[in-house]
Amino acid sequence: MGSIIIAVEKKRRLYEGKAKVVYETDDPDKVILLFKDSASAFDGTKRADVKGKGAINNTISSILFEILEREGIRTHYIKKLSEREMLVWRAERFPVEVVVRNVATGSIVRRLGVKEGTEFKPPLVEFFMKSDELHDPPVCEAHIILLKLAPPEAVPLMKETAVRVNEILSGIFSKVGIRLVDFKLEFGRLPDGTVAVVDEITPDSMRLWDMRTGERLDKDRFRFDLGDLLEGYGEVLRRLSGP
Ligand code: C5P
Repeated sequence: MGSIIIAVEKKRRLYEGKAKVVYETDDPDKVILLFKDSASAFDGTKRADVKGKGAINNTISSILFEILEREGIRTHYIKKLSEREMLVWRAERFPVEVVVRNVATGSIVRRLGVKEGTEFKPPLVEFFMKSDELHDPPVCEAHIILLKLAPPEAVPLMKETAVRVNEILSGIFSKVGIRLVDFKLEFGRLPDGTVAVVDEITPDSMRLWDMRTGERLDKDRFRFDLGDLLEGYGEVLRRLSGP
């Protein structure tokens, strides 16, 4: 007897983070990400409920993952399931954050005294260890290998992929009048063994500045009380969605 699968069944909750909940499905290789309506910053010490944020971030992330997939970047994205849910390949996530910077702001200014606004050409790629207790310290390639944060062969791949993602996304955003200042990517191993971009690509994980006005359209609005978070994220989505 054949059966027609109409919808993906959402089962047990596997993990709940600050911005997303992960659910298992009836397929062991696939999980559902639910984007929460909450904002958090500074290691979770600043928090707020923001109704509508989950839907906007799910949509922005879906649009950007689809663009990356079309450009040949392997990601965990399968499809957008509903307003706040995305179906993705289950991944063994590496506890590493890969940050690409085109312009100096944020932690690089605080850590290294680089002048705010300095342009990085070529873009700067940095690695951080994901660790709440250690507050995500910067790590180098040797640390990643020593601490087995990711397989050695994945390190150059993460770096090359991050640079390519920067080229693609910088182009997409500049067409709609937005400067991609910096962003964070995470990587993991998919069930078929390939190393792919996982997690999310949203204004929570990028800095996006309006090219004309310099207005911040990203999470810095929430971090530093620069304006309504949803208005900024909504503007990013409107521009990405076209006229
Ligand atoms: O704080 P920092 O300047 O190092 O952040 C660089 C970029 O990485 C920013 O776009 C920030 O939003 C993102 N990021 C992130 N998650 C973190 C740390 C940084 O998405 N845990």
